[in-house]
Amino acid sequence: MRPTGRLHLGHYHGVLKNWVRLQHQHRCFFFAADWHALTTDYEHPQQVAEHTQDMIVDWLAAGVDPGSAVLFVQSRVPEHAELHLLLSMITPLGWLERVPTYKDQQEQLRDKDLATYGFLGYPLLQGADILAYKATLVPVGEDQVAHLELTREVARRFNHLYGREVDFETRVQAALRKLGRKQAQLYEDNRRAYQERGDQEALAVAQALIRGQANISLGDRERLLGNLEGGGIIVLPEPQPLLTATARMPGLDGRKMSKSYGNAIGLREDPDAVAQKLRTMPTDPARVRRSDPGDPEKCPVWSLHQVYSDDAQRAWVQEGCRSAGIGCLDCKKPLVDAVQAELSLFRERARPFEDDPGLVREIIAGGCEQAREQARETLDEVRQVMGLGY
Ligand code: SF4
Repeated sequence: MRPTGRLHLGHYHGVLKNWVRLQHQHRCFFFAADWHALTTDYEHPQQVAEHTQDMIVDWLAAGVDPGSAVLFVQSRVPEHAELHLLLSMITPLGWLERVPTYKDQQEQLRDKDLATYGFLGYPLLQGADILAYKATLVPVGEDQVAHLELTREVARRFNHLYGREVDFETRVQAALRKLGRKQAQLYEDNRRAYQERGDQEALAVAQALIRGQANISLGDRERLLGNLEGGGIIVLPEPQPLLTATARMPGLDGRKMSKSYGNAIGLREDPDAVAQKLRTMPTDPARVRRSDPGDPEKCPVWSLHQVYSDDAQRAWVQEGCRSAGIGCLDCKKPLVDAVQAELSLFRERARPFEDDPGLVREIIAGGCEQAREQARETLDEVRQVMGLGY
């Protein structure tokens, strides 16, 4: 996620809620994409550090847990830059120019000069962000699937150019090294005995070791087994999109929630300010008087009920609004309560990090270390196959 400062409920319902769920299902890496922020905001670098810190506190407030997922900052893992550079050697210019957002964003952000090398290359930097971890799944929205396709194409080209034909023994060694020192040692200790019984026996032992691993993801396990059986090594696996249904959280005026539209509710916003914003948010203009019936479809408050209310409460809104049985303040009351309850949990989680920013720095430092370890491993392999392992 690009560090744009404090986050709002649109980020929570659209992205973070999903992250909180995913962190218990997969090994997740979540990072502040500060270099990406510079591709469009290179004129204002002074804000990046503060925005990054604020954003990560909001992740923690939303329930992203550094004990379950790796939280880090992109620029603190220089392997992303090295992989970006190496991938840039094999990426045809046309692939980048064809990325749909390239022209669109230049149009939309006309006040900025985006005819830069960094801006053209940002989808490839995204590719490096993903491939540095050999990520098998990337949580994206429908509109970003095309974006991920570039990463998949680059990985394919890389493997085509550098995926090596290797002998059986090297394949087993490489696969087991990924599992950890203990397993590699176990195999090594018994190697001679296995080999005497032939390659098939050794293959079966290595497969059993890989299948018995609970500490690697299903995707990693499949890839290792594939490497073992195939004739070569796939260095950079092609990531797949992980499409998940997310709620679209509208802003106070019914448009997409965005800080720049002034229609957002911050995750750590003051309760009085939130109550005030909800009380004064516009409703169906047809309900001038309490006795005028309305139509929820024409009211942004109804969109919020779709996020926060259960079926019974939604039926109450539909009926009450259309028959003028309820007033707009009655209608907003359960929403105010639900939003305030959600935000109060966020504020409570954020408090220790607001009181002691050192805690956040520690979490980031720990996450960066874990991320680097993983990325370093990938880069070792990439350098090797590109002839740079000297
Ligand atoms: Fe909107 Fe509710 Fe008022 Fe109907 S009753 S106009 S849905 S706020």
